[in-house]
Amino acid sequence: MRYISTRGEAPALNFDEVVLTGLARDGGLYVPETWPQFSASEIRSLAGKSYAEVAAQVLYPFVEGSIPLETFQGMTEKAYGTFAHKAVVPISQLDENAFLMELYHGPTLAFKDVALQLLGLLYDYLLGKQGKRVTIVGATSGDTGSAAIEACRGRDAVDIFILHPKGRVSEVQRRQMTTVLDDNVHNLAIDGDFDDCQALVKAMFNDHEFRDTLGVSAVNSINWARVMAQIVYYFTTAVSLGGPDRAISFSVPSGNFGDVYAGYCAHKMGLPIEQLIVATNRNDILSRFFNEGRYRKEGVNPTISPSMDIQVSSNFERFLFDLCARDAGQIRNFMAQLDDDGGFDVDPQQLNSSIFSAGSCSEEETLETIRHTLATSAKLVDPHTAVGLKVAGQRRTSVTVPMVTLSTAHPAKFPAAVEKACGHYPQLPEHMKDLFDVKSGWMNFPMNWSPYKITSGKNPGY
Ligand SMILES: *Cc1c(COP(=O)(O)O)cnc(C)c1O
Repeated sequence: MRYISTRGEAPALNFDEVVLTGLARDGGLYVPETWPQFSASEIRSLAGKSYAEVAAQVLYPFVEGSIPLETFQGMTEKAYGTFAHKAVVPISQLDENAFLMELYHGPTLAFKDVALQLLGLLYDYLLGKQGKRVTIVGATSGDTGSAAIEACRGRDAVDIFILHPKGRVSEVQRRQMTTVLDDNVHNLAIDGDFDDCQALVKAMFNDHEFRDTLGVSAVNSINWARVMAQIVYYFTTAVSLGGPDRAISFSVPSGNFGDVYAGYCAHKMGLPIEQLIVATNRNDILSRFFNEGRYRKEGVNPTISPSMDIQVSSNFERFLFDLCARDAGQIRNFMAQLDDDGGFDVDPQQLNSSIFSAGSCSEEETLETIRHTLATSAKLVDPHTAVGLKVAGQRRTSVTVPMVTLSTAHPAKFPAAVEKACGHYPQLPEHMKDLFDVKSGWMNFPMNWSPYKITSGKNPGY
């Protein structure tokens, strides 16, 4: 498979290069040149297979030419062997026709593990093949950092440095990062907030000499391999619920548009999907876009679903590229307008035929949904999942089509909000109970240690 940039001015790359490069040199994002196609009978034949087997089969067209099939099958076995549930991504039922897709059984209890566990192995393999090393640098407000550290710990060809704002990540998140003591893992606590961490990382990336000397790379959500790995659970879930012989709807708590874009990719590959619902918290740029055709930046509002607190969605450009019939010139115009005027508009007609619908959820509605879900289905959900459930209820067009809400984090990752909503303090799963007993290590850095100038920056996609 070859990959092309959404801005049309960077060279087409193969899978190896796309994984190791991330952002295209013209500022665009890489997308597959064509969508691999799965027929109804091929999708039907996925029933009863393990998650790792389905992953190898569904994703192989994207990696073909870079990794031999047997090697890739070994990678998916290993990546998904780290999950605490044999189904990897099990589904649970909330009422007759409403389901949760439980994406939180990985090592750090959030859906980002599903992609990052595979990405860590891809790095090892692709770097080993080229005899190279890479230095991963990232800023985190909590979830991405811990998932990236888990994915990279102990890997031969990778060093990872994660900056977190000191005192501003939850205790669970801090411990998930700082109790990993492998030699190649470096946690840096910054006296500052998330934007300061992000600005430091951005400054490092803009120093091309530094970047090239150390082979600095990012594991942020714009990496194609992360989006790709997320396609799989749309297939496994649909097949479990009767697909492809009936269409399924999904509601996806969204921030950087990576997770829901993976659902769109699955649809493009032949999976029947009735509705793909983009659920946002009050940082609702995506919801406003799908309802009004206007993509406009506003400030970021902190919420109790912090992993979706974004100003612009870093993966959105990939969908926009298809919406514009893959006209890279049009994308360059839109992105220039976003930088210069703070936004752009598309013809609402263009959106009518899409499978997307969208809505947003207030803080009070999020708490109320946590309370209501516990009362009516005996299920404790985290605030991100609650946003998905609330918007699924608002936007659902049919009660006979199964509605699956993606449950993106374990409630114990956001215990304060869950307790506030319903009075229950969610416990960590049994196998993680010792998180608070183990030794942790991190280095503390005052903000002025950096040789880099801090500039307020665009969201690089965490
Ligand atoms: C990252 C994250 C999201 C948002 O996913 P995107 O791919 O950025 O849209 C939602 N919920 C949780 C718990 C997350 O960590």
